[in-house]
Amino acid sequence: MNTTIKAKDTFHASMRKYARLKRFFERFSADPDFMNNLKLNFNETLEKNHIKIDREDVRYLFEKENSETPEAVIKMWNIVQNKQRWVEQFYLNDCLPSKASMLSWRKRQIERQRYDLGPFFTNTNIHSSLAVELSQGCSVGCWFCALSPDSLKNNYSHETNQEEWIRFIQIMNSFLGNAIKSTFLYWATEPFDNPYYEKFCIDLYNETGVFPPTTTAVAHKDIDRIKQFLKLSSDYGTWLNRFSLTSLGIMRKVHKNYTEEELAEVECLPLNKKANYAYGNSGNFRERTKADPNLLAEQDEKLRTAPWHHKDSDYNSSEDYANGSICCVSGFLVNMVSRKIQLISPTTATDEWPLGYIIFDEAKFENIEELQIILNSWEERFFKSEMDLDDFVAFYPWIHTRFTENEVILKGRFNQKKQFSRIDDPVITKLIELITNTKSSFKEIQAHALEQFDISLIDSKKAINTLFSYGFISEK
Ligand code: SF4
Repeated sequence: MNTTIKAKDTFHASMRKYARLKRFFERFSADPDFMNNLKLNFNETLEKNHIKIDREDVRYLFEKENSETPEAVIKMWNIVQNKQRWVEQFYLNDCLPSKASMLSWRKRQIERQRYDLGPFFTNTNIHSSLAVELSQGCSVGCWFCALSPDSLKNNYSHETNQEEWIRFIQIMNSFLGNAIKSTFLYWATEPFDNPYYEKFCIDLYNETGVFPPTTTAVAHKDIDRIKQFLKLSSDYGTWLNRFSLTSLGIMRKVHKNYTEEELAEVECLPLNKKANYAYGNSGNFRERTKADPNLLAEQDEKLRTAPWHHKDSDYNSSEDYANGSICCVSGFLVNMVSRKIQLISPTTATDEWPLGYIIFDEAKFENIEELQIILNSWEERFFKSEMDLDDFVAFYPWIHTRFTENEVILKGRFNQKKQFSRIDDPVITKLIELITNTKSSFKEIQAHALEQFDISLIDSKKAINTLFSYGFISEK
Protein backbone atom coordinates (compact mmCIF):
# COMPACT_ATOMS: atom_id res chain seq x y z
CA MET A 1 0.00 0.00 0.00
CA ASN A 2 2.98 2.30 0.58
CA THR A 3 3.63 2.66 -3.14
CA THR A 4 0.00 3.67 -3.59
CA ILE A 5 0.07 6.29 -0.86
CA LYS A 6 3.33 7.62 -2.23
CA ALA A 7 1.88 7.87 -5.74
CA LYS A 8 -1.16 9.79 -4.48
CA ASP A 9 0.93 12.10 -2.31
CA THR A 10 3.28 12.85 -5.19
CA PHE A 11 0.33 13.64 -7.47
CA HIS A 12 -1.25 15.93 -4.87
CA ALA A 13 2.05 17.61 -4.05
CA SER A 14 2.59 18.53 -7.70
CA MET A 15 -0.94 19.94 -7.93
CA ARG A 16 -0.39 22.02 -4.82
CA LYS A 17 3.04 23.19 -5.92
CA TYR A 18 1.77 24.50 -9.23
CA ALA A 19 -1.74 25.55 -8.10
CA ARG A 20 -1.46 29.09 -9.48
CA LEU A 21 0.02 28.05 -12.77
CA LYS A 22 -2.61 25.33 -13.04
CA ARG A 23 -5.33 27.98 -12.77
CA PHE A 24 -3.60 30.04 -15.47
CA PHE A 25 -3.65 27.11 -17.87
CA GLU A 26 -7.26 26.31 -17.07
CA ARG A 27 -8.19 29.73 -18.45
CA PHE A 28 -5.61 29.53 -21.21
CA SER A 29 -7.01 26.25 -22.54
CA ALA A 30 -10.63 27.44 -22.31
CA ASP A 31 -10.60 30.97 -23.64
CA PRO A 32 -9.42 31.72 -27.20
CA ASP A 33 -9.27 35.48 -26.44
CA PHE A 34 -7.21 35.09 -23.30
CA MET A 35 -3.81 35.20 -25.02
CA ASN A 36 -4.64 38.33 -26.98
CA ASN A 37 -5.93 40.02 -23.88
CA LEU A 38 -2.75 39.06 -22.04
CA LYS A 39 -0.69 40.66 -24.77
CA LEU A 40 -2.74 43.83 -24.54
CA ASN A 41 -2.71 44.07 -20.78
CA PHE A 42 -1.18 41.24 -18.81
CA ASN A 43 -1.96 42.37 -15.26
CA GLU A 44 -5.48 43.56 -15.94
CA THR A 45 -6.38 40.31 -17.75
CA LEU A 46 -5.07 38.20 -14.88
CA GLU A 47 -6.88 40.29 -12.30
CA LYS A 48 -10.17 40.12 -14.19
CA ASN A 49 -9.87 36.31 -14.27
CA HIS A 50 -8.71 35.93 -10.65
CA ILE A 51 -5.29 34.53 -11.57
CA LYS A 52 -2.09 35.36 -9.71
CA ILE A 53 1.13 34.50 -11.50
CA ASP A 54 4.19 36.45 -12.60
CA ARG A 55 4.82 37.24 -16.23
CA GLU A 56 8.14 35.49 -15.82
CA ASP A 57 6.29 32.18 -15.15
CA VAL A 58 4.88 32.17 -18.68
CA ARG A 59 7.53 34.21 -20.44
CA TYR A 60 7.76 31.66 -23.23
CA LEU A 61 4.31 32.69 -24.49
CA PHE A 62 5.66 36.11 -25.42
CA GLU A 63 8.93 35.02 -26.96
CA LYS A 64 9.22 34.65 -30.70
CA GLU A 65 10.85 31.26 -30.89
CA ASN A 66 12.06 28.77 -28.39
CA SER A 67 13.10 25.26 -29.31
CA GLU A 68 13.23 24.01 -25.71
CA THR A 69 10.14 22.82 -23.87
CA PRO A 70 9.11 25.76 -21.65
CA GLU A 71 9.40 25.33 -17.91
CA ALA A 72 5.71 26.10 -17.37
CA VAL A 73 4.76 23.29 -19.74
CA ILE A 74 7.13 20.90 -17.97
CA LYS A 75 5.43 21.75 -14.66
CA MET A 76 1.96 21.00 -16.04
CA TRP A 77 3.29 17.84 -17.65
CA ASN A 78 4.64 16.82 -14.27
CA ILE A 79 1.07 16.91 -12.86
CA VAL A 80 -0.22 14.83 -15.79
CA GLN A 81 2.52 12.23 -15.38
CA ASN A 82 2.03 11.99 -11.62
CA LYS A 83 -1.69 11.50 -12.15
CA GLN A 84 -1.04 8.74 -14.69
CA ARG A 85 1.36 6.99 -12.28
CA TRP A 86 -1.28 7.10 -9.56
CA VAL A 87 -3.99 5.78 -11.92
CA GLU A 88 -1.74 2.91 -12.97
CA GLN A 89 -0.77 2.07 -9.41
CA PHE A 90 -4.21 2.32 -7.85
CA TYR A 91 -6.73 1.39 -10.54
CA LEU A 92 -4.64 -1.03 -12.56
CA ASN A 93 -2.82 -2.75 -9.68
CA ASP A 94 -4.69 -2.29 -6.41
CA CYS A 95 -8.29 -2.35 -7.64
CA LEU A 96 -8.47 -5.69 -9.39
CA PRO A 97 -11.47 -8.00 -8.95
CA SER A 98 -10.68 -10.88 -6.61
CA LYS A 99 -12.58 -13.46 -8.68
CA ALA A 100 -10.32 -14.91 -11.40
CA SER A 101 -13.38 -15.21 -13.66
CA MET A 102 -14.25 -11.50 -13.44
CA LEU A 103 -10.59 -10.60 -13.76
CA SER A 104 -10.33 -12.46 -17.07
CA TRP A 105 -13.55 -10.80 -18.33
CA ARG A 106 -12.17 -7.37 -17.38
CA LYS A 107 -8.81 -8.09 -19.02
CA ARG A 108 -10.60 -9.15 -22.20
CA GLN A 109 -12.70 -5.96 -22.24
CA ILE A 110 -9.55 -3.88 -21.83
CA GLU A 111 -7.85 -5.78 -24.66
CA ARG A 112 -10.87 -5.11 -26.89
CA GLN A 113 -10.80 -1.40 -26.04
CA ARG A 114 -7.32 -1.14 -27.59
CA TYR A 115 -8.78 -2.10 -30.95
CA ASP A 116 -12.11 -0.36 -30.40
CA LEU A 117 -11.17 2.96 -28.77
CA GLY A 118 -7.42 3.11 -29.29
CA PRO A 119 -4.35 2.84 -27.03
CA PHE A 120 -4.57 6.33 -25.51
CA PHE A 121 -8.14 5.80 -24.29
CA THR A 122 -7.26 2.34 -23.00
CA ASN A 123 -4.04 3.28 -21.21
CA THR A 124 -5.44 6.34 -19.44
CA ASN A 125 -8.81 4.85 -18.48
CA ILE A 126 -9.37 3.86 -14.85
CA HIS A 127 -11.42 0.77 -15.84
CA SER A 128 -13.47 1.00 -12.67
CA SER A 129 -15.62 -1.97 -11.66
CA LEU A 130 -18.60 -0.14 -10.15
CA ALA A 131 -20.44 3.14 -10.66
CA VAL A 132 -23.54 3.93 -8.61
CA GLU A 133 -26.18 6.54 -9.37
CA LEU A 134 -27.89 8.04 -6.33
CA SER A 135 -30.48 9.99 -8.34
CA GLN A 136 -32.71 9.34 -11.27
CA GLY A 137 -31.92 11.90 -13.96
CA CYS A 138 -29.81 15.04 -13.75
CA SER A 139 -30.77 18.65 -13.03
CA VAL A 140 -28.01 20.23 -15.13
CA GLY A 141 -28.92 19.23 -18.70
CA CYS A 142 -25.60 19.89 -20.50
CA TRP A 143 -26.12 20.12 -24.27
CA PHE A 144 -22.99 18.02 -24.89
CA CYS A 145 -23.72 15.33 -22.28
CA ALA A 146 -22.35 12.02 -23.53
CA LEU A 147 -24.69 10.05 -21.27
CA SER A 148 -28.06 11.73 -22.08
CA PRO A 149 -29.88 11.57 -18.75
CA ASP A 150 -33.53 12.56 -18.38
CA SER A 151 -34.26 15.56 -16.21
CA LEU A 152 -34.00 15.01 -12.46
CA LYS A 153 -36.86 12.98 -11.03
CA ASN A 154 -35.90 11.40 -7.74
CA ASN A 155 -33.13 11.01 -5.21
CA TYR A 156 -32.14 7.97 -3.16
CA SER A 157 -32.75 8.90 0.44
CA HIS A 158 -30.05 8.25 3.01
CA GLU A 159 -32.53 8.69 5.84
CA THR A 160 -34.75 5.83 4.76
CA ASN A 161 -32.22 3.64 2.96
CA GLN A 162 -28.95 3.71 4.90
CA GLU A 163 -29.27 0.12 6.06
CA GLU A 164 -29.98 -1.14 2.54
CA TRP A 165 -27.16 1.04 1.17
CA ILE A 166 -24.62 -0.48 3.55
CA ARG A 167 -25.85 -4.01 2.72
CA PHE A 168 -25.47 -3.11 -0.96
CA ILE A 169 -21.84 -2.04 -0.48
CA GLN A 170 -21.14 -5.20 1.52
CA ILE A 171 -22.61 -7.48 -1.15
CA MET A 172 -20.66 -5.71 -3.88
CA ASN A 173 -17.55 -5.76 -1.69
CA SER A 174 -17.74 -9.51 -1.19
CA PHE A 175 -18.31 -10.01 -4.93
CA LEU A 176 -15.65 -7.60 -6.21
CA GLY A 177 -12.94 -7.85 -3.54
CA ASN A 178 -10.34 -5.10 -4.02
CA ALA A 179 -12.18 -3.80 -7.09
CA ILE A 180 -14.78 -2.24 -4.74
CA LYS A 181 -12.16 0.47 -4.10
CA SER A 182 -12.68 1.75 -7.65
CA THR A 183 -16.33 2.62 -6.94
CA PHE A 184 -17.64 6.12 -7.58
CA LEU A 185 -21.11 7.48 -6.92
CA TYR A 186 -22.31 9.23 -10.06
CA TRP A 187 -22.79 8.51 -13.75
CA ALA A 188 -25.56 10.16 -15.74
CA THR A 189 -26.23 12.15 -12.59
CA GLU A 190 -25.02 15.28 -10.81
CA PRO A 191 -23.75 14.08 -7.40
CA PHE A 192 -24.90 17.19 -5.54
CA ASP A 193 -28.48 16.78 -6.77
CA ASN A 194 -28.69 14.29 -3.94
CA PRO A 195 -28.85 16.17 -0.61
CA TYR A 196 -27.24 13.18 1.14
CA TYR A 197 -24.33 12.70 -1.27
CA GLU A 198 -21.71 13.36 1.42
CA LYS A 199 -23.27 10.76 3.74
CA PHE A 200 -23.21 8.09 1.05
CA CYS A 201 -19.53 8.82 0.42
CA ILE A 202 -18.72 8.48 4.13
CA ASP A 203 -20.56 5.13 4.32
CA LEU A 204 -18.58 3.94 1.32
CA TYR A 205 -15.37 5.02 3.02
CA ASN A 206 -16.34 3.24 6.26
CA GLU A 207 -17.02 0.00 4.40
CA THR A 208 -14.16 0.03 1.89
CA GLY A 209 -11.51 2.43 3.21
CA VAL A 210 -11.74 4.62 0.09
CA PHE A 211 -13.53 7.94 -0.26
CA PRO A 212 -14.72 8.09 -3.90
CA PRO A 213 -13.63 10.70 -6.46
CA THR A 214 -16.31 13.24 -7.41
CA THR A 215 -17.09 15.21 -10.56
CA THR A 216 -19.57 18.06 -10.30
CA ALA A 217 -20.94 20.60 -12.75
CA VAL A 218 -22.46 22.82 -10.04
CA ALA A 219 -19.37 24.09 -8.22
CA HIS A 220 -20.53 27.66 -8.98
CA LYS A 221 -23.96 27.16 -7.40
CA ASP A 222 -23.93 25.95 -3.81
CA ILE A 223 -20.45 27.25 -3.04
CA ASP A 224 -20.61 26.76 0.73
CA ARG A 225 -21.67 23.14 0.39
CA ILE A 226 -18.98 22.38 -2.17
CA LYS A 227 -16.28 24.09 -0.09
CA GLN A 228 -17.26 21.96 2.88
CA PHE A 229 -17.22 18.90 0.66
CA LEU A 230 -13.69 19.69 -0.56
CA LYS A 231 -12.56 19.86 3.05
CA LEU A 232 -14.44 16.69 4.02
CA SER A 233 -13.20 14.65 1.07
CA SER A 234 -9.64 15.83 1.63
CA ASP A 235 -9.85 14.83 5.32
CA TYR A 236 -10.97 11.37 4.18
CA GLY A 237 -8.09 11.22 1.68
CA THR A 238 -9.92 11.29 -1.66
CA TRP A 239 -7.63 11.20 -4.65
CA LEU A 240 -9.59 13.58 -6.87
CA ASN A 241 -12.40 16.07 -7.10
CA ARG A 242 -13.21 17.48 -10.48
CA PHE A 243 -15.20 20.54 -11.52
CA SER A 244 -16.82 20.55 -14.95
CA LEU A 245 -16.78 24.20 -16.03
CA THR A 246 -19.32 24.42 -18.80
CA SER A 247 -18.90 28.10 -19.75
CA LEU A 248 -16.29 30.85 -19.41
CA GLY A 249 -18.66 32.72 -17.09
CA ILE A 250 -18.84 29.70 -14.79
CA MET A 251 -15.06 29.37 -14.84
CA ARG A 252 -14.69 33.02 -13.85
CA LYS A 253 -17.20 32.60 -11.04
CA VAL A 254 -15.41 29.50 -9.76
CA HIS A 255 -11.99 31.17 -9.93
CA LYS A 256 -13.43 34.18 -8.12
CA ASN A 257 -15.06 32.24 -5.31
CA TYR A 258 -12.41 29.62 -4.60
CA THR A 259 -8.77 30.38 -3.89
CA GLU A 260 -5.98 28.62 -5.77
CA GLU A 261 -5.20 26.74 -2.56
CA GLU A 262 -8.79 25.55 -2.23
CA LEU A 263 -8.70 24.27 -5.80
CA ALA A 264 -5.15 22.96 -5.69
CA GLU A 265 -6.26 19.32 -5.66
CA VAL A 266 -9.28 19.92 -7.88
CA GLU A 267 -9.12 19.23 -11.57
CA CYS A 268 -11.00 22.05 -13.30
CA LEU A 269 -12.12 20.78 -16.67
CA PRO A 270 -12.98 23.51 -19.20
CA LEU A 271 -16.02 22.21 -21.09
CA ASN A 272 -17.10 25.31 -22.97
CA LYS A 273 -17.40 24.77 -26.71
CA LYS A 274 -14.21 26.63 -27.64
CA ALA A 275 -12.02 25.03 -24.98
CA ASN A 276 -9.17 22.72 -25.96
CA TYR A 277 -11.13 19.81 -24.55
CA ALA A 278 -12.82 17.58 -27.16
CA TYR A 279 -16.24 16.19 -26.25
CA GLY A 280 -16.98 12.48 -26.18
CA ASN A 281 -18.99 11.63 -29.28
CA SER A 282 -21.85 9.77 -27.65
CA GLY A 283 -25.25 10.60 -26.16
CA ASN A 284 -26.53 14.17 -26.70
CA PHE A 285 -23.33 15.28 -28.36
CA ARG A 286 -23.46 12.48 -30.92
CA GLU A 287 -27.07 13.38 -31.75
CA ARG A 288 -25.86 16.93 -32.48
CA THR A 289 -22.94 15.79 -34.62
CA LYS A 290 -25.20 13.50 -36.64
CA ALA A 291 -27.25 16.58 -37.51
CA ASP A 292 -24.20 18.83 -37.92
CA PRO A 293 -21.02 16.98 -39.01
CA ASN A 294 -19.05 20.25 -38.87
CA LEU A 295 -19.40 20.17 -35.13
CA LEU A 296 -17.52 16.88 -35.03
CA ALA A 297 -14.91 18.15 -37.51
CA GLU A 298 -14.18 21.10 -35.17
CA GLN A 299 -13.70 18.76 -32.22
CA ASP A 300 -11.59 16.39 -34.30
CA GLU A 301 -9.26 19.26 -35.17
CA LYS A 302 -8.65 19.86 -31.47
CA LEU A 303 -7.89 16.19 -30.83
CA ARG A 304 -5.40 16.15 -33.66
CA THR A 305 -3.30 18.85 -31.95
CA ALA A 306 -2.75 16.65 -28.87
CA PRO A 307 0.78 15.17 -28.79
CA TRP A 308 -0.51 11.64 -28.17
CA HIS A 309 -2.50 12.00 -31.39
CA HIS A 310 -0.33 13.89 -33.83
CA LYS A 311 2.91 12.15 -32.78
CA ASP A 312 1.43 8.68 -33.24
CA SER A 313 1.28 7.58 -36.86
CA ASP A 314 -1.50 5.10 -36.08
CA TYR A 315 -3.71 7.91 -34.82
CA ASN A 316 -2.73 10.66 -37.22
CA SER A 317 -3.25 8.47 -40.29
CA SER A 318 -6.69 7.38 -39.08
CA GLU A 319 -9.95 9.10 -39.96
CA ASP A 320 -11.62 7.88 -36.75
CA TYR A 321 -12.62 10.40 -34.10
CA ALA A 322 -10.47 9.48 -31.10
CA ASN A 323 -13.01 10.21 -28.38
CA GLY A 324 -15.93 7.90 -29.07
CA SER A 325 -16.80 7.19 -25.44
CA ILE A 326 -16.38 8.72 -22.01
CA CYS A 327 -17.13 5.45 -20.25
CA CYS A 328 -14.62 4.39 -17.60
CA VAL A 329 -16.36 1.31 -16.18
CA SER A 330 -15.86 -2.29 -17.16
CA GLY A 331 -18.19 -3.74 -14.59
CA PHE A 332 -21.45 -2.75 -12.94
CA LEU A 333 -23.56 0.36 -13.29
CA VAL A 334 -26.28 0.53 -10.64
CA ASN A 335 -29.10 3.00 -10.12
CA MET A 336 -30.24 2.86 -6.50
CA VAL A 337 -33.52 4.70 -7.17
CA SER A 338 -34.83 2.50 -9.96
CA ARG A 339 -32.87 -0.52 -8.60
CA LYS A 340 -31.46 -1.30 -11.98
CA ILE A 341 -28.12 -2.98 -12.51
CA GLN A 342 -26.27 -3.22 -15.82
CA LEU A 343 -23.06 -4.96 -16.84
CA ILE A 344 -21.19 -2.52 -19.09
CA SER A 345 -17.90 -1.79 -20.82
CA PRO A 346 -16.75 1.10 -23.07
CA THR A 347 -17.12 0.97 -26.84
CA THR A 348 -17.11 3.57 -29.60
CA ALA A 349 -20.66 4.94 -29.68
CA THR A 350 -22.78 3.66 -32.56
CA ASP A 351 -26.51 3.43 -33.22
CA GLU A 352 -26.38 0.09 -31.39
CA TRP A 353 -24.58 1.56 -28.35
CA PRO A 354 -25.36 5.31 -28.49
CA LEU A 355 -24.04 6.03 -24.99
CA GLY A 356 -20.56 4.70 -25.71
CA TYR A 357 -20.79 1.49 -23.75
CA ILE A 358 -21.91 -2.07 -24.38
CA ILE A 359 -24.70 -3.23 -22.07
CA PHE A 360 -24.13 -6.97 -21.77
CA ASP A 361 -27.26 -7.36 -19.68
CA GLU A 362 -29.48 -5.46 -17.29
CA ALA A 363 -31.90 -6.42 -14.55
CA LYS A 364 -34.00 -4.94 -11.75
CA PHE A 365 -33.66 -6.02 -8.13
CA GLU A 366 -36.38 -5.60 -5.53
CA ASN A 367 -34.03 -6.22 -2.64
CA ILE A 368 -30.42 -7.12 -1.87
CA GLU A 369 -31.11 -10.88 -2.00
CA GLU A 370 -32.26 -10.49 -5.60
CA LEU A 371 -29.14 -8.51 -6.38
CA GLN A 372 -27.01 -11.41 -5.17
CA ILE A 373 -28.90 -13.81 -7.45
CA ILE A 374 -28.33 -11.53 -10.45
CA LEU A 375 -24.60 -11.26 -9.69
CA ASN A 376 -24.30 -15.04 -9.44
CA SER A 377 -26.12 -15.64 -12.71
CA TRP A 378 -24.03 -13.04 -14.58
CA GLU A 379 -20.87 -14.52 -13.13
CA GLU A 380 -21.76 -17.82 -14.75
CA ARG A 381 -22.86 -16.30 -18.07
CA PHE A 382 -20.27 -13.61 -18.68
CA PHE A 383 -17.24 -14.00 -16.44
CA LYS A 384 -15.68 -16.93 -18.21
CA SER A 385 -12.30 -17.29 -19.81
CA GLU A 386 -13.41 -19.82 -22.42
CA MET A 387 -16.36 -19.85 -24.79
CA ASP A 388 -19.12 -22.46 -24.51
CA LEU A 389 -19.74 -24.98 -27.30
CA ASP A 390 -23.07 -23.37 -28.24
CA ASP A 391 -21.79 -19.77 -28.20
CA PHE A 392 -22.08 -17.95 -31.51
CA VAL A 393 -18.63 -17.01 -32.83
CA ALA A 394 -18.30 -13.77 -34.81
CA PHE A 395 -15.83 -10.90 -34.79
CA TYR A 396 -17.08 -7.48 -33.74
CA PRO A 397 -18.46 -5.73 -36.83
CA TRP A 398 -15.76 -3.03 -36.69
CA ILE A 399 -12.94 -5.59 -36.98
CA HIS A 400 -11.60 -5.87 -40.51
CA THR A 401 -9.83 -9.04 -41.59
CA ARG A 402 -7.17 -8.94 -44.27
CA PHE A 403 -5.67 -12.03 -45.81
CA THR A 404 -2.27 -11.83 -47.48
CA GLU A 405 -0.03 -14.55 -48.79
CA ASN A 406 1.97 -14.73 -45.56
CA GLU A 407 -0.29 -13.24 -42.94
CA VAL A 408 -3.78 -12.79 -41.60
CA ILE A 409 -4.40 -9.36 -40.05
CA LEU A 410 -7.20 -8.34 -37.71
CA LYS A 411 -7.52 -4.58 -37.76
CA GLY A 412 -9.63 -2.43 -35.42
CA ARG A 413 -10.05 1.32 -35.27
CA PHE A 414 -7.06 3.75 -35.28
CA ASN A 415 -5.01 1.26 -37.30
CA GLN A 416 -4.70 -1.02 -34.28
CA LYS A 417 -3.95 -4.48 -35.58
CA LYS A 418 -2.79 -7.95 -34.73
CA GLN A 419 -0.90 -9.96 -37.31
CA PHE A 420 -0.74 -13.74 -37.45
CA SER A 421 1.84 -15.50 -39.57
CA ARG A 422 0.52 -18.32 -41.75
CA ILE A 423 3.76 -20.22 -41.15
CA ASP A 424 4.07 -19.69 -37.39
CA ASP A 425 0.33 -19.72 -36.55
CA PRO A 426 -1.26 -22.05 -39.12
CA VAL A 427 -4.15 -23.09 -36.86
CA ILE A 428 -5.20 -19.62 -35.76
CA THR A 429 -5.02 -18.22 -39.31
CA LYS A 430 -7.28 -21.01 -40.60
CA LEU A 431 -9.69 -20.41 -37.73
CA ILE A 432 -9.84 -16.67 -38.52
CA GLU A 433 -10.81 -17.59 -42.08
CA LEU A 434 -13.51 -19.93 -40.85
CA ILE A 435 -14.92 -17.44 -38.33
CA THR A 436 -14.99 -14.71 -40.97
CA ASN A 437 -16.73 -16.87 -43.55
CA THR A 438 -18.99 -19.18 -41.56
CA LYS A 439 -20.49 -17.23 -38.63
CA SER A 440 -21.55 -20.33 -36.71
CA SER A 441 -21.49 -21.72 -33.22
CA PHE A 442 -18.27 -22.68 -31.49
CA LYS A 443 -18.83 -26.40 -32.01
CA GLU A 444 -19.83 -25.96 -35.67
CA ILE A 445 -16.64 -24.02 -36.34
CA GLN A 446 -14.67 -26.78 -34.65
CA ALA A 447 -16.40 -29.33 -36.88
CA HIS A 448 -15.57 -27.31 -40.02
CA ALA A 449 -11.94 -26.96 -38.87
CA LEU A 450 -11.67 -30.71 -38.42
CA GLU A 451 -13.37 -31.54 -41.71
CA GLN A 452 -11.71 -28.95 -43.94
CA PHE A 453 -8.24 -28.58 -42.40
CA ASP A 454 -7.84 -31.62 -40.19
CA ILE A 455 -7.45 -29.38 -37.10
CA SER A 456 -8.12 -31.33 -33.90
CA LEU A 457 -10.90 -30.24 -31.53
CA ILE A 458 -8.30 -29.43 -28.89
CA ASP A 459 -6.32 -27.19 -31.24
CA SER A 460 -9.38 -25.38 -32.61
CA LYS A 461 -10.71 -24.81 -29.08
CA LYS A 462 -7.40 -23.30 -28.05
CA ALA A 463 -7.23 -21.06 -31.12
CA ILE A 464 -10.79 -19.71 -30.80
CA ASN A 465 -10.30 -19.05 -27.11
CA THR A 466 -7.07 -17.20 -27.85
CA LEU A 467 -8.98 -14.90 -30.22
CA PHE A 468 -11.67 -14.59 -27.54
CA SER A 469 -9.08 -13.52 -24.94
CA TYR A 470 -7.80 -10.80 -27.31
CA GLY A 471 -11.31 -9.33 -27.30
CA PHE A 472 -12.00 -9.80 -31.03
CA ILE A 473 -15.05 -12.01 -30.63
CA SER A 474 -18.36 -10.30 -29.98
CA GLU A 475 -19.89 -11.13 -26.60
CA LYS A 476 -23.24 -9.59 -27.26
S1 SF4 B 1 -22.55 16.12 -18.18
FE1 SF4 B 1 -23.00 15.55 -16.05
S2 SF4 B 1 -24.01 17.36 -15.22
FE2 SF4 B 1 -24.11 17.58 -17.45
S3 SF4 B 1 -26.08 16.63 -18.02
FE3 SF4 B 1 -24.53 15.02 -18.16
S4 SF4 B 1 -24.62 13.99 -16.19
FE4 SF4 B 1 -25.63 15.98 -15.92
